[in-house]
Amino acid sequence: MTAYEIIKKKRDGGELSTEEIKFMVDGAVNHTVPDYQLAAFFMAIYFRGMTQRETADLTLLMAHSGDVVDLSRVQGVVVDKHSTGGVGDTTTIVLAPLVAAAGVKVAKMSGRALGHSGGTLDKLSSIPGFRIDLTPEEFFAQVNTVGVAVVGQTGVLVPADKVFYKVRDVTATVDSLPLIAASVMSKKIAGGARGIVLDVKYGRGAFMPAKEEAVALGRTMVDIGRLTGRRVVCLVTGMDQPLGYAVGNALEVREAVDTLKGEGPADLRELCLQLGAHMLVLAGLAVSPADGYAVLQRTLDSGAALEKMRQWVAAQGGDPRIVDDPGLLPSANVKQALVAAADGYVQAIDALEVGLSGMEIGVGRLREDDQVDPAAGIVLHKKIGDQVTRGEPVLTVHARTEDLAAKALSRLQKAVVIGPTVPPVPPLIYDVVQ
Ligand code: URA
Ligand code: CA
Repeated sequence: MTAYEIIKKKRDGGELSTEEIKFMVDGAVNHTVPDYQLAAFFMAIYFRGMTQRETADLTLLMAHSGDVVDLSRVQGVVVDKHSTGGVGDTTTIVLAPLVAAAGVKVAKMSGRALGHSGGTLDKLSSIPGFRIDLTPEEFFAQVNTVGVAVVGQTGVLVPADKVFYKVRDVTATVDSLPLIAASVMSKKIAGGARGIVLDVKYGRGAFMPAKEEAVALGRTMVDIGRLTGRRVVCLVTGMDQPLGYAVGNALEVREAVDTLKGEGPADLRELCLQLGAHMLVLAGLAVSPADGYAVLQRTLDSGAALEKMRQWVAAQGGDPRIVDDPGLLPSANVKQALVAAADGYVQAIDALEVGLSGMEIGVGRLREDDQVDPAAGIVLHKKIGDQVTRGEPVLTVHARTEDLAAKALSRLQKAVVIGPTVPPVPPLIYDVVQ
């Protein structure tokens, strides 16, 4: 068996055997298959696709290319939630304490910001004292006593994905459905959860621009779940404009806390309730999504979720007073508003441009070793469909310097479109695949 033969077989439309796929995954991890052959392999997959069986094989082989988390030490049912990446997507910080307060065990490994997408770890790290590097003992003890822990990756999880992604990123093969599905699902499987709720985003600020493609990705991942013994539900949700109002690390923590207090943005609250409802069903704590939704509404309204947030932050060494006094979170020196140039209605707030502007002022990072600015970000005052009058602030940039703010503002000017007519408001949840 050689990489050449495997590439040629896929190039010509053949179906690869488990052994052939294993040869490429092992070869990537051991560096016995060079990057240029991986590149050709991914391009062949990009054009020829993979069968369900091939995709499930690839997923499991990737998942087992490194450590697999053993969650048997958790007392209770762990359900994971994963988003394919968006702008201003604060759901994890709301959902983790919300579903934990309802009895789901949240034992989550999360990621850092990269590119225009934010990262939960960077957001949590903006809380003074918050530790994302718990030892495995601390992690499991906290999940069992508090019900929720969110940490960075420990051990070597899915090394195959790291090699694959690096090559895909520079060879125009990121947007291959089986490769994305295997990448996402291998990481979830290595993370140990048996139940997984996926939030697949489509639109300007998402990996997948078209909703049909996002549905197809969701279908592929639900199928992988079935073939690998995991229960997977996938919500296909819109990411044409940022989620909620805040984009930025500390700014999003604040927005999450507001949402737990019942004072957050309607779209963020609704998405959290919908995602959480499915998590409750997978955990066996609700008989239907509607039942789960009602349970979570009560958990929010009673203050139980907010109290869980305090406990969670304190357990990970963070200052729980940020919950009642968000002024204790880092805040930016410079705040500059973008004002409406005309009367009318907001037609578009380009999530990708908002994400990229955020990255430039330090919300995220271009390269893995870039530093983020916990205080930087963008706060929208309007969303699509809202009426504005000329001169009224549409958004505010929070930045370290005037220069950075000015740069972001000039970019954001083009991201916000105002027109004379009431536009259709894009749906929050387009489809549920299960
Ligand atoms: N997100 C991932 O984790 N992997 C991909 O390949 C694309 C998006
Ligand atoms: Ca937000």
